[in-house]
Amino acid sequence: MLRPEQKQDLPVLRQVQGEIPISHRYTLGVAGERFFKAMRDQRQLLASPCPKCRDLLLPPKAYCPRCFVATAEAWSPLTGPGFVRGFTVVHRDLDELPLAAPEIVALIGWPEVRGGLVHRLQEVEPQQVALGMAVEPVWATQRTGCLADILHFRPAANH
Ligand SMILES: [Zn+2]
Repeated sequence: MLRPEQKQDLPVLRQVQGEIPISHRYTLGVAGERFFKAMRDQRQLLASPCPKCRDLLLPPKAYCPRCFVATAEAWSPLTGPGFVRGFTVVHRDLDELPLAAPEIVALIGWPEVRGGLVHRLQEVEPQQVALGMAVEPVWATQRTGCLADILHFRPAANH
């Protein structure tokens, strides 16, 4: 705590404005590497099973965060559609500029997994989206091993 006479001695603080460009690079990690390679090479979404609680983790993890045990070596490809567990309709981009058309962003889960993926939902009007709607991924032709290997999700054809 400064005494009043000390505050008088403080210099006037000057400000210098500028920008600090920051870039970063994270490794995918063991689990992420395997997950994204399966997306790229097999167009598969893999979930890692916990041998203790039997949950399937998505995104897959090397360790179950609840049980603190290594997940099983054999990962399970997700079969069948995912289901919309939550969604929002986005009207502005990251710079707060209006989008040409609203975008739907959904949390997509599978009945047998703990977790899910957040991704774009397209080929459906926002007012048609409902919780529990069955959806399927639309894969990119050229895949590089990233979440954008799925262009978007759309309503599942057979549901
Ligand atoms: Zn577990």
